[in-house]
Amino acid sequence: MTDKNNCVLRASGLRKEYGAGDGLVRAVDDFSLEVAPGETVAVTGPSGCGKSTLLHLLGGLDRPSSGEIWLTGQRMDQMTERGLAGLRRESIGFVFQSFHLMEELTALENVELPALLAGSSARTARHRAENFLDRVGLGDRAGHLPSQLSGGQRQRVAVARALVNEPVVVLADEPTGNLDSEAMLDVLRLFDDLHEAGQTLVIVTHDQRIAATADVLVTMRDGKMVSQTRLSGDGQRRRLGELAGLGE
Ligand code: ADP
Ligand code: MG
Repeated sequence: MTDKNNCVLRASGLRKEYGAGDGLVRAVDDFSLEVAPGETVAVTGPSGCGKSTLLHLLGGLDRPSSGEIWLTGQRMDQMTERGLAGLRRESIGFVFQSFHLMEELTALENVELPALLAGSSARTARHRAENFLDRVGLGDRAGHLPSQLSGGQRQRVAVARALVNEPVVVLADEPTGNLDSEAMLDVLRLFDDLHEAGQTLVIVTHDQRIAATADVLVTMRDGKMVSQTRLSGDGQRRRLGELAGLGE
């Protein structure tokens, strides 16, 4: 089966239910979305509206109760565990609010791990990891453990790790939610750079500044999409540097 649409990621009629009977929760309810190549989609909505659940479904970390998910023409929701694990490793980058770094590994080792798991040789994995650490501005912190890095630096390591296998899409769940304002700006700039470089991105965020720099702004409530606004094209989209209060 192939996907006729020219999009990187497509979800159609997605549902995710937890529990049963009176305790049934529809965390994601009849949600459809298409993400075109190079597009940044921001997803916002109140706490508990299903943003994380949605992102986990889109990233193959969890399976929908019903509906379809296609990633570059491959149907994810019907894949075997093994197929899905391979796709997650090679084609999807995930950035979590709480970084999820391996505390006993250095920054460089954290970044190279997904490359090794995807089958790169030790040499190639090292080379790629060094490259991506440089790209997030942490080439000089390669040998540091996460505990020796600030929150913003840890999140930049996590972004480098998400990028190391050059995924077709990066999914980020409130990536600035645990950061102070200066670190938040560093990470915002990094996502803005990725956007400009053509990386396809889906970012869950409470931050209106991230949301304003997206091409498409999606709002959720009670598991449903309540609005979808295209900011690029009609002049509403802002570059990070244009926004007030950023000290640039
Ligand atoms: P958000 O990220 O927007 O805060 P979540 O996706 O975390 O929202 O949660 C959406 C809804 O699904 C909430 O009502 C939450 O309690 C429920 N939920 C999320 N994960 C689970 C789970 N593993 N088991 C049961 N309910 C869950
Ligand atoms: Mg969440």
